[in-house]
Amino acid sequence: MTTSLQSVLGTGFADKRLKAPKDTTSLQCNYSGHTFCMRFVVSVIPKTAYESNAAFFEKAMDAVVQSLGALLRDGLTHPLTGERFFFVVLGVKGDLPYLQKLGKLNRSWNTTSKKRSRGGRLAGGTCHLCLAGTAGCHAEEIVDHPQWEVTIGVRQPWLRTPFIVQHLCHNLSNPASFFKHDLWHSVHLGLGKSFVCSCLQIALEVVPATNNEDRFRWLTNHYRAWCKDTSSQPHVTKITPSLISYGEKTGAAGAWRKGALTTNLMRWIVVLVSALSSDKGGYLSLCATAAVNLNEFFSCLHNAPLFLSGNEATYLAGKGMTFLKIYARLALDLFREGRPHLFAVYPKIHVIHHFLWDMRQEAGDHNLSLHPLSAACQMDEDLVGRVSRLSRRVNIRAVIQRTLERYLIGCYAAWREAAAATEHVEPATHVIQRDRGHFKVSH
Ligand SMILES: [Zn+2]
Repeated sequence: MTTSLQSVLGTGFADKRLKAPKDTTSLQCNYSGHTFCMRFVVSVIPKTAYESNAAFFEKAMDAVVQSLGALLRDGLTHPLTGERFFFVVLGVKGDLPYLQKLGKLNRSWNTTSKKRSRGGRLAGGTCHLCLAGTAGCHAEEIVDHPQWEVTIGVRQPWLRTPFIVQHLCHNLSNPASFFKHDLWHSVHLGLGKSFVCSCLQIALEVVPATNNEDRFRWLTNHYRAWCKDTSSQPHVTKITPSLISYGEKTGAAGAWRKGALTTNLMRWIVVLVSALSSDKGGYLSLCATAAVNLNEFFSCLHNAPLFLSGNEATYLAGKGMTFLKIYARLALDLFREGRPHLFAVYPKIHVIHHFLWDMRQEAGDHNLSLHPLSAACQMDEDLVGRVSRLSRRVNIRAVIQRTLERYLIGCYAAWREAAAATEHVEPATHVIQRDRGHFKVSH
């Protein structure tokens, strides 16, 4: 379990994503550079430790929170200039299980219930920000003004205010908004995957081949040819039935864990549909329209600064809503056809809807909207991967301390390299040695 700090401000998205030169006068998201230079690890805990004793994680987080509170109260003094800096923690982000664990949320992704309790009320609720998923307030209602919009912040999603909220600045009218959803995860490792899998399963009906094996081979060849034409990394060697959950009646959820593959497949589907004849139900053309809208939504976001203008936010929220509305329509049509496993409706559909609703609301209220990817965990996945690789190379009896020490050594090299790239400083040529439990740098 890796916990890290980051600035909400950074140097924007990586240059390869940009369609136009970056606007250097506006504030940017924190997305480019080595993750060791933009995310700061403050705690690592092995799974065995926090699973056997929940207090282990809670006590570690309490210590982090107290320290963060002092950053605003007392500030941090620069050792050379004597200047004092004060920091405000804007919120906590992470995947849904992490947020649930930290906030002890009693409304989250796994508390949704379709069954009515004895009183006729729906139990649980699916969202810590609003009452979606409770009685008379459907989380799957994809319209511009859903019933849940008037329930935002009316009931707290916890029995006791979490320690992290008590000790840090937060929005008093809606303390639960301190816990931020992750748009990237919700699409690229959530609804986007089931969309792609469902589209491909419909496409199989019109692929020009006589048996299933040949149909998948045809899809693989088409995908690989598209990757070559667009110079995209394929990420998979084959499109297989198991990859797209073909024949799984519990829901076409997709069997990959790489968000970049979802991005690729979403772009490829538009080209694929244009190469195929139309299907019986006319679903494929709808799939292509949905994919075009979602692709434009993310492409624009990856070129946007930290604050979107009111017009940009309204336009992009419209693109996202078009995707969601088509998804919901396909879900209903295919459910009526007896194919409920296609375009399955997961709690993440509500998370995405919430983001789009927020963008429109902020645009209307302030003529500005905070970039919805500013709280996404795309780069943090990279950081967690690096730290967990380090943790496998240290003595298991001192795994926490040694992992953090190795992380600091990694930081040293990454920061030197970043400085060398911008200021023509010599890259690190020093040897770092361990000396009686301490690390020393020899030149
Ligand atoms: Zn909600």
